[in-house]
Amino acid sequence: MKKDTANPNIPGSANMVENASSRTRSDLQRLQSLAVSSMAEKVVYHDMQMKIRWANRAACDFYRLPLEKMEGNICYVLLGRSTEECRNCPVKKVLQTGEFHQDILSFPEGKTLLINAHPIWEDGNLIGVVEVSLDITERTKFEEELKKAKNESAAASESKSRFLANVSHEIRTPMNVILGMANLLYESAHSEEHQEYLKMIKDSASFLLTLINDLLDLSKVEAGKLELSQEHFNLPAAVEKIVSSFALQAQEKGLRLSSSIDENVPQIVTGDAARLQQVLFNLIGNGIKFTEQGEVSVSLTLADAGEDMSQAKKQERNGVAPVFFSISDTGIGIPSDKLDRVFQSFTRIESVDTHNYEGTGLGLAISKTLVELMGGSLGVKSVENKGSTFYFTIPFTLLQDTKGKTEGFSAAAKPEESPGEQSSELVGKGLEILLVEDKPMNQKLTTVLLEKKGHHVITANNGKEALDKLQAGRFDLILMDINMPEMDGLEATAHIRAAEKNLGGRIPIIAMTASAMPEDREKCLMAGMDYYVSKPINAQDLYQILEKFRQSRVEDLA
Ligand code: ADP
Repeated sequence: MKKDTANPNIPGSANMVENASSRTRSDLQRLQSLAVSSMAEKVVYHDMQMKIRWANRAACDFYRLPLEKMEGNICYVLLGRSTEECRNCPVKKVLQTGEFHQDILSFPEGKTLLINAHPIWEDGNLIGVVEVSLDITERTKFEEELKKAKNESAAASESKSRFLANVSHEIRTPMNVILGMANLLYESAHSEEHQEYLKMIKDSASFLLTLINDLLDLSKVEAGKLELSQEHFNLPAAVEKIVSSFALQAQEKGLRLSSSIDENVPQIVTGDAARLQQVLFNLIGNGIKFTEQGEVSVSLTLADAGEDMSQAKKQERNGVAPVFFSISDTGIGIPSDKLDRVFQSFTRIESVDTHNYEGTGLGLAISKTLVELMGGSLGVKSVENKGSTFYFTIPFTLLQDTKGKTEGFSAAAKPEESPGEQSSELVGKGLEILLVEDKPMNQKLTTVLLEKKGHHVITANNGKEALDKLQAGRFDLILMDINMPEMDGLEATAHIRAAEKNLGGRIPIIAMTASAMPEDREKCLMAGMDYYVSKPINAQDLYQILEKFRQSRVEDLA
C-alpha cells in the first residue's frame, strides 16, 4: 500500500502528519480508517475472488446491510444477481488487468454510480481492489432533464419558425395580388384622386410586406437558417444606391442626407450585398424617421485607418479589409438607460417622442444579427435630444485579382444590355409561356404583367394540366407555382425533366412561390428548376429574369 501522506480532504490531516512522530502508527491508522468510514463516497475492499473484505458506512447504506452481512460476500450476490457481475464491472476488470478502471454503472432503484477501481499491490502481487464510488444519480438526472429541455426548446423553436414561415406564405400570396393590381390600376388611373387612393393602398401593402419579410427573417434567424451569400459586389455603389433611395424622404422632411466613402475603402469586395443593404436601409430609415431637423449622414472608412494605418493595411494585404460604417443623425436620441434594449426584438423605446413614429421594433434586432453573421457587431452611441450614431465594422474579403474578374459580380449592377444590340429574330419577340398556377387571381395578375411585355401566356391550374398542355403545345419557358392541388410544382418538374431524358431538349422552369425559406429554394433547384422568384412577384424582377432567358436563348442560337 501507499505510504501515509497528508490528505487535504481530511480535516486536520496536516496536523496529524506533523504530530506523527508523537503518535503511534496504530493511532494514525485508526484516524485514517475513521476518515474513510465517514466519507460520502462508498469505499469497498474486494479480495482476489471479488469477495468484500471491508466496506465503509456509505457502502453499507447503499446495500442496506450491516458490515457483518457484507463481509465475505460478493457484491453481485448482494445485489440479487446470483451468478453474474454487472456488465463492464470495473472491479472485475482490475482483477483481470491489474490496472485502474473507471466506469459509470446504473443499479436497481435507478441509482447511477461513478466507480473508480484501484488495484492493491503488495510485494509485487495483486492482492485485491479498492472500489470508490460516487453517487451521481441526481447529477445524471439533472443532465438528462437539461438535455430533454434543450431538445424540447429546439423543437418548439423549429415549429414556431415553421408556423411563421407558413403564415407568411399565406399572407404573401394575397399580398401578391393586392400589390400587383394596385400597381396596374395606379398606372392607368384617370384622376389624381384615384391615384392618391391607390398610392395609399400600395404604400400600406408595401409596409405589410416589409413586416412579413422581417418576421420571416426573424424566424430564419431563430431557426439558425439565415444564410448569407458570398458574391463580388461594388461596395460604394451598393451603399450609394441605398442612400439615394432615401433622398426624396429626407427632402420631404427638410433633412440633409449625406454620405462619405473614404478613398481607402475598397471598391470590389466579397459578401452579401443585399443583406448589407438591408442593414443600411434599416439604420438610415430609422435615422430619418427619428429626426425632425438637421441631418442624417452615412460614412465608410477603413477601420482604424486613422490610429493604426499599418494594422489596417496589413489586414488589407491579407485579403481582408475591415470597413467601418457609421450612420449618424441629429434626432431625438435614445435615453442612456435604454440603449442596450434597442437591439431586442419587438422593443420600441416608449417615450412621448416615439409615440408619433410607426414601427415594429424588429429592424434593429434583425440588423444586429445580420451584422454579426457578416463578422461584425452593431453598436450605438446616443445622446437624448442630440442624436444617435449606429456603427459596425465588417471584415470584407477582397477580390484577389480584380482584373478581368469583375464581370460576374457586376452583371446585376451594370445597366442591362439593350436587346437591340443582339442580332436575332427572337429579340423583341414575346415568349410562349406556360403559367402553372392554381389561384385564379394570381393567374390573372401574372398574365396581365406578362402580356404587357408582349409575351403570350397559356395557363394550367395544376401540375397535371401543365403536363397535358406541354404535350399539346410548344413553349419557351414555364413559370411554375409550387403548392397546387392534384400535382404540385416539384412533382410536375420531375416528370418534365424525366421525359426530356428520352425526348431531348430542356425547357427553362422558373419556380414561382410564396415559400421563402432557404430549404424551399433548395427543393426547387433540386427538383430540376432553373430559377426561383418569390411572391409577391416584383414585376421588374420577373421582367429581368425573362430578359435574361431571352438573352441566353439568343446566345445559344448565335
Ligand atoms: P422600429 O423602428 O420599427 O420601431 P427598430 O428595431 O428599428 O424598430 O428600433 C427599435 C427602437 O429603437 C425604435 O422604436 C426607437 O425607439 C429606437 N431607435 C432606433 N433607431 C433610432 C434612432 N436613430 N434614433 C432614436 N431612436 C431610435
